[in-house]
Amino acid sequence: MSERKVRVRFAPSPTGPLHMGGVRTALFNYLFAKKYNGDFILRIEDTDQTRYVPGAEEYIIESLQWCKLQFDEGVSEGGKYGPYRQSERKAIYKQYADQLIASDNAYFAFDTPQELDDLRAKYEAEKKTFTYDSSIRKSLKNSLAFSKDETEKRLASGEHYVIRFKMPENSVIIMQDIIRGEVKVTSSTVDDKVLFKSDGMPTYHLANIVDDHLMEISHVIRGEEWLPSLPLHVSLYRAFGWENTMPQFAHLPLLLKPTGNGKLSKRDGDKLGFPVFPIYWPYGETARGYREDGYFNDAFINMLALLGWNPGTEQEIFTLEEMIKLFSLERVNKSGARFDPEKAKWFNNQYLQKKTNEELADLYLPYLQGKGINAGKMMVAEVVALVKERVNFVHELWEQSFFFFQAPESYDENVVKKKWKEETPEILKNILKFLSGISFENRNEMEEELKKYLETNQIGFGQVMNALRLTIVGSGMGPDLLTIMSMIGRDETIKRVEKGLETIKLHQV
Ligand code: GLU
Repeated sequence: MSERKVRVRFAPSPTGPLHMGGVRTALFNYLFAKKYNGDFILRIEDTDQTRYVPGAEEYIIESLQWCKLQFDEGVSEGGKYGPYRQSERKAIYKQYADQLIASDNAYFAFDTPQELDDLRAKYEAEKKTFTYDSSIRKSLKNSLAFSKDETEKRLASGEHYVIRFKMPENSVIIMQDIIRGEVKVTSSTVDDKVLFKSDGMPTYHLANIVDDHLMEISHVIRGEEWLPSLPLHVSLYRAFGWENTMPQFAHLPLLLKPTGNGKLSKRDGDKLGFPVFPIYWPYGETARGYREDGYFNDAFINMLALLGWNPGTEQEIFTLEEMIKLFSLERVNKSGARFDPEKAKWFNNQYLQKKTNEELADLYLPYLQGKGINAGKMMVAEVVALVKERVNFVHELWEQSFFFFQAPESYDENVVKKKWKEETPEILKNILKFLSGISFENRNEMEEELKKYLETNQIGFGQVMNALRLTIVGSGMGPDLLTIMSMIGRDETIKRVEKGLETIKLHQV
């Protein structure tokens, strides 16, 4: 690694909710920065006003806060390279566009959108693609085709123009990518991109390069979808004379759909029932989020880290500190990372099982309160201990443990059919008498007493327990029944058995 201070940025455009691939990009930037004691910067790239979506910037910030990816500089943190929102840097960019014109690396183009559309249509009719490039630029309406006087006349008259980059002709652009190695492109395959628009705003390309330069960014770590822009970006650094301080590039592999080909999209999530965004997106077409679906932020981040990064061992669970220590761009794969929604749940499960019963009780209590249940933390922690192995999410605890807090409202028909025999009501009625005479304090003592009673009366243990469970839990599920009974207590147990006896009998008629 060179002497240069590591400075990386996450540079999202506020055009909608932040895709989980974007969060992974932020994470890899963060891990890299922290590993090398560098700076992690948030820059909002909002120069394209037609794509600006209100609320998106706040959403991005809240998402990354939830993920605990703390910026050193950015729109909220400030910093000496600010402002960090490109719309507030508007005044900076024009001089750089002018500099490129003066050095003959860019030119004014006066073609109207209509004229360009017509040209595209004409090409299409001939089964060709129109590209504004070195092969054709001299025949279009721009300052390379016009005389100096003509250009000046048009500019003076206030005619709309854009500034285009004059892509070097017939050269091979050789670029280095930390993940992909050497990348070579012939310049003739790259068009003359617009750098500056008629609305006085730079395009993404110009603002991005100027800002990375001014903010002294050392490494650009971003998604693979930006790889096609790299020849232009590298050519821009060269045209500006900034090649010596050009950042190093690393293009991260795409996140792929769970099956089939292509990029992981919201549609895949909708179809298969998983979120593709970190938190709930509340505007327009709303979208679910990992946070609201019950994922722990650290489990989410851990899962994302392994989408593309290969630590080189079998280890899958990492704290953020461990990830910082182990992360390297050299261990990021070139090929796409397939997303597996089941694996995402597995990660959450691992983090859930690691939590203490008290921690889980603290998380479960508000959920219970939401259902109007006021249980004590100690009791809830005991319940959690009995059922946590069966769940991936805190909210799933309810389905596994509701019967500790309330009587069942219905009885599983299949269990009734299988386990509720003709003699069952009679047996349970006698058991009720027995239950009202024993202590519920100690589960093991209850078991001894019960076994003795059953032996004496020559009743099968399983037969009784299945029917009892049906009245107490409402089905055949749940942890050890005697533990449940001792936890809900004698009165509640008896009430449930009585109610079962009334209701289940009715079912049978
Ligand atoms: N604004 C671009 C985006 O939305 C940034 C790409 C880059 O990191 O250069 O992804």
